Amino acid sequence: MLFVVVLLVALLLAALLWGWRLRRELEAERAYLQRRREKRETGALTQLFLATAAALESGLLLIDRNHRIRFANQALENMLHVELATVTGQAIITLLRDYRADALVKSAIESGEVQSTTFQPPRSPQTLQISCYPLPDHDEYCAIVLLRDITHLAQLERARREMVANVSHELRTPLASIKLLVETLQGAPPPEVAQRMLGNIDDELEAMTHLVDELRELSQIESGRMVMAFQPTDISALVERAIARLRPQAERRQLQLTSEITQPLPLALVDEERIGQVLLNLLNNAIKFTPTDGRITIHVSAVQAANQQTPSRIRHELQQTGLARAIVVAVADTGIGIPESEVDRVFERFYKVDRARTRNSGGTGLGLAIAKHLVERHGGRIWVESEEGHGSTFSLLLPAM
Ligand code: ADP
Repeated sequence: MLFVVVLLVALLLAALLWGWRLRRELEAERAYLQRRREKRETGALTQLFLATAAALESGLLLIDRNHRIRFANQALENMLHVELATVTGQAIITLLRDYRADALVKSAIESGEVQSTTFQPPRSPQTLQISCYPLPDHDEYCAIVLLRDITHLAQLERARREMVANVSHELRTPLASIKLLVETLQGAPPPEVAQRMLGNIDDELEAMTHLVDELRELSQIESGRMVMAFQPTDISALVERAIARLRPQAERRQLQLTSEITQPLPLALVDEERIGQVLLNLLNNAIKFTPTDGRITIHVSAVQAANQQTPSRIRHELQQTGLARAIVVAVADTGIGIPESEVDRVFERFYKVDRARTRNSGGTGLGLAIAKHLVERHGGRIWVESEEGHGSTFSLLLPAM
């Protein structure tokens, strides 16, 4: 009997032990499966994170608890011209070298709020936008930092601001004089004075209309809305037409106006009306900025990239366009010239070498900017060589057929 009881107890104990071991094994198995599932999920998430980071156009940094960079994507490497291997382990300030950007990351992490700012890395023309996204619930990492290159946007914004400032500046002067003239007219001056003032108002209105027309044209070209009609064109005929049109003006100022055309001249592939307009602009300027008794000459010739005799400046411009053959039109004057420091700027919108002097000559500073756009739409080039006090030569390179 005792034996049976002992046996039953032993069996019971064995069953209990077996059950306990089974439970432990089951638990261990469950924990193992759980760990595997988590690992798989983490692996999948890591893969997804890496794929997302690689697809991003923005630079991405993962910052750890010690405020060290633990991960950077390819876009960041391209943006900052750094090697990814060297970035890992660095502090933000070492990478970006900007105290404002560094302070922003720290402040975002401390406050737990997303923060953004823009900055310019030292010795770089770039404008970057930095945004810090804190990860308060994460043990290992404390923030994600995104960097966006907004250099182009910043330039556009600057250009827009400059444009508005320039347009208002250009309009303010004629508007102020019209206001003054109208006030004087309200005082009923003698008829001959009133007549002269009306003439002045008319001149100011014409200058304003000219400005608005040029602005509209510039905006049309810049937005790509201007349709070009390229056709084989005899440039020498175009040059002669421009000369004939402006000869009366040149004669009024006793300026000698001639052309020198080197034959044979191939046809050019251009929009006749637009290039005619550029020639008129260059001739107009030459007349405006050349004192009495000066000379203006338009040289026209064909050039080839392969010809060693082609002057180096023209060969350089040909190289820039990729054209093998071209026609060069050079408008040379013996006028006041342009100071060396300003030569490169005359093609900028609203740029005038001497504002006071140009205001009297009725310029807007838009003519050459428009000319540059038009010539470049032809795949050509425009440039100027000048010596202050001795004259300027504006040259056009146009595609030859
Ligand atoms: P504007 O309507 O003022 O003439 P442009 O864009 O045609 O505008 O010219 C810009 C500036 O370049 C002029 O204001 C002038 O200062 C300078 N410039 C242009 N052509 C000549 C030239 N042939 N000689 C000297 N300066 C010139």
